[in-house]
Amino acid sequence: MTEIKQEQVINILKSIHHPNKGSDIVSLGIVQGLVIKDGEIGFALNINPVEAEIMEQIRKICNEKLSALAGVKKVTSVLTAERNAEKKIPEMSAPVKGAGPLKNTQKITGVKHIIAVASGKGGVGKSTTAVNLALALKHIGLKVGIFDVDIYGPSIPMLLGVTEKPVQSPDNKILPIIKYGIVSMSLGYLMKQDTATIWRGPMVMSAVKQMIADTKWDVEGELDVLVLDLPPGTGDVQLTLAQNVDMDGAIIVSTPQDIALLDARKGLDMFQKTDTNIYGIIENMSYFLCPSCGDRSDIFGHGGARDIAKKLNVDFLGEIPLHMDIRSASDNGTPIVVHNPDSPHSRIYVDIAKRIAKKL
Ligand code: ADP
Repeated sequence: MTEIKQEQVINILKSIHHPNKGSDIVSLGIVQGLVIKDGEIGFALNINPVEAEIMEQIRKICNEKLSALAGVKKVTSVLTAERNAEKKIPEMSAPVKGAGPLKNTQKITGVKHIIAVASGKGGVGKSTTAVNLALALKHIGLKVGIFDVDIYGPSIPMLLGVTEKPVQSPDNKILPIIKYGIVSMSLGYLMKQDTATIWRGPMVMSAVKQMIADTKWDVEGELDVLVLDLPPGTGDVQLTLAQNVDMDGAIIVSTPQDIALLDARKGLDMFQKTDTNIYGIIENMSYFLCPSCGDRSDIFGHGGARDIAKKLNVDFLGEIPLHMDIRSASDNGTPIVVHNPDSPHSRIYVDIAKRIAKKL
């Protein structure tokens, strides 16, 4: 395989000039986070958001020129902007209150319905729930995709046991990975684990939007549902996604502990403020099922999420126990719904999937 030298890549990028600033994009510090690995080149162009349109042209030129270099299999580039500049982008403005969820949002080509799986904080099992729900939706006959929007800590590659990289289609789209009968895309597929730090500060939405647009979601036919595994919490990424992507509904995953429930309320609040339809709450790690004796104990004070759902007038979608099998199946890259579809745990995910499918 022809080795690609960093110097060659930089020289090519240096031949590309900023349209108004009279210098090249490397010298101006616009090129950031350059990664070259196994014939793949990845980098970000850190731009002023007001120049987004023209810099998108520049990004395409970079890709074309680098793709022509011997040994290059793929070029992945994104536009990013510094956090303080982020607020200036007109399309990121807050939606008009009461104007309905469709007001500022866009559909995703090749996808009929979009649901977001969110959580008020990390570690409540949001990704585990999202992936098992996606597989359960497939189990009940829907064509399903999952998009790992957790750009800071993408875990879908691990949960689905995916090690291969997506390839480009003849029409220059990225082909999602197909595993266990669902299509999936994750930033974790495109970048080395430790390069995720390049997204800190720079605008994440540009990367996410580009991945949404560049992925051929309907590679196996139009998707009935695309599940978005959102980053934990209620930060800018979640907010801007809720404002920009035409989500059919959001699902909040929470554990029964008070702190998690408090955060779950914040999550609900964020979706309500952006007029996003809320499908309901799932209580994960709801009760402990002893793997040896099958005894059940409510170690975290089971039922809190059901109470909150009732209080806030949203549906309670179901409760998933804390069980070793759920964890070990995920750790091994074969989620429980695939690993043991007839297990009681899998049936819980399937029941929740049925409830969600009715709402679509
Ligand atoms: P999050 O996406 O909220 O950060 P993860 O889905 O990564 O959380 O889950 C955190 C950890 O908890 C993982 O090790 C996962 O295997 C485990 N886990 C999630 N849900 C369950 C469950 N119901 N029973 C046992 N372990 C679980």
